[in-house]
Amino acid sequence: MVRAQLPEPQRLLRVWKRVLERRLRARLRTDVTVEVHDNTHTMVTFERVRRGWRIRLHHMFLAAPEEVVTALAEFVRSADARSSAVLDRFIERNKAFIRRVSPAQLRRRLRIEPVGRHHDLSVIFSALNRRYFAGRIAATITFGPAPRSRRPRKSIKMGSYSADSRVIRIHPALDQPKVPRYFVEWIVFHEMLHHVYRARRGEDGRRCVHPPEFMQHERRFHDFHRAQAWENDNLDLLLRARVG
Ligand SMILES: [Zn+2]
Repeated sequence: MVRAQLPEPQRLLRVWKRVLERRLRARLRTDVTVEVHDNTHTMVTFERVRRGWRIRLHHMFLAAPEEVVTALAEFVRSADARSSAVLDRFIERNKAFIRRVSPAQLRRRLRIEPVGRHHDLSVIFSALNRRYFAGRIAATITFGPAPRSRRPRKSIKMGSYSADSRVIRIHPALDQPKVPRYFVEWIVFHEMLHHVYRARRGEDGRRCVHPPEFMQHERRFHDFHRAQAWENDNLDLLLRARVG
């Protein structure tokens, strides 16, 4: 009898993945699914699923030593500073395994659509870049894809910045006539600051995406208070927006 077999490397990968799942399950005392990737920037993410945890990891973790697997489980459980520092050190030691991809290569895989029906992000971005950054922010901006969830939203991530691709994504819910331009500008300005201030470790050891200098800089935005007030009064409008 001839059995169809996976090529050797894939089979090995599957075995290693199962082993890691078992090691994590034992520590987290619940079901764990591991997905292995070859990302260049975000090495560990996780989410709660019905039966336990789904953890996405860079393949460097497949053969991680005990100490690191324990830290991984602890990090998933409580996102504490100590385990996060152990993971950081492991990633730092293994960074030779991280593939090098240029931001331009990554951007080529994305749909870049900065022109909405009501707001043109490229115009907003250029104006802010001139006014606040002497034109020095080399990033690309686009309306992000509509999120998949069909459930009513309780919160909304209005923008994001990827340091890998240098792409700013703005939530399509902001492309409505009722959303004032100064509010879109504020969200874009915030994401541009993420290009300037990279996440770093705070004094307590936690990863800090909005360090104090970031927060201070953000207040220089010309419509800072107006934009904040608008958000407070209109969050419902953004949460209910039908997009996509
Ligand atoms: Zn932010």
